[in-house]
Amino acid sequence: KTEIRQKFIVGNWKMHTTSFEAQQLAKGIVDGLAAPDHVTVVLCPPFPYLPIVGDMLRGSRVALGAQNVYPETEGAFTGEVSPNMLLDLDCKYVIVGHSERRHKLGESEAFINRKVKCALDSGLDVILCVGETLEQRQGGRTEAVLDHQLSTGLDGVSSDMLSHLSVAYEPVWAIGNDEHHATPQQAHDTHVLIRRKLTQILGATWSEELSVHYGGSVEPGNAAAFLGQDGIDGVLIGGASLKADEFLAIVNAGI
Ligand code: PGA
Repeated sequence: KTEIRQKFIVGNWKMHTTSFEAQQLAKGIVDGLAAPDHVTVVLCPPFPYLPIVGDMLRGSRVALGAQNVYPETEGAFTGEVSPNMLLDLDCKYVIVGHSERRHKLGESEAFINRKVKCALDSGLDVILCVGETLEQRQGGRTEAVLDHQLSTGLDGVSSDMLSHLSVAYEPVWAIGNDEHHATPQQAHDTHVLIRRKLTQILGATWSEELSVHYGGSVEPGNAAAFLGQDGIDGVLIGGASLKADEFLAIVNAGI
């Protein structure tokens, strides 16, 4: 297994928790965490709870991340949140292009690309999510979809920014889904396609250094199998990140 790449365990809380629950969850994770330095642990609470969770994480080795960002530094964009605001709240990471934003909020490839560039230029580390729908997979279009998402998502990103970027492969059909789970082998095979595409876009050196994570119904029982696959450098966790003991079990599975 390649160890040159940083390992990531990222909790994406989506639109869950109250302020109290967010605080308790962050506290439970900070108190229980025993991950070594080569594992980067990131929590992405909803926007309103970034300050509370940020306070909880201060002085710990858990980083704060946001689930979204608007691709302008400031201006008349009612209801939006800029990269500078996230940095001001001690966010280090931001998730961009999550499938729920692509498919439920209608974000286009071009908009996602603007977010990637603006967030990187502002000094955030970007986790760019890509993934095919069930229909696309069944239609044999997985590779073409991922190619397109990666080449448009990374268009114009300069190589000096790449150390602040990672990619998360999240097959839409396997997210929060009890019925359809990707097997570790399927995840591995798709990671191979992604790494090949990254080599085409970025060149072999950068492609080798970029962390590529897996996401989609990762839980304590299957985390070690995903993280044990060559080429899977981390996991992005939704449902199972909402319970401190489950999240910590996944962190431990990745060590
Ligand atoms: P899930 O979500 O772990 O609940 O499938 C993952 C994600 O959407 O990031």
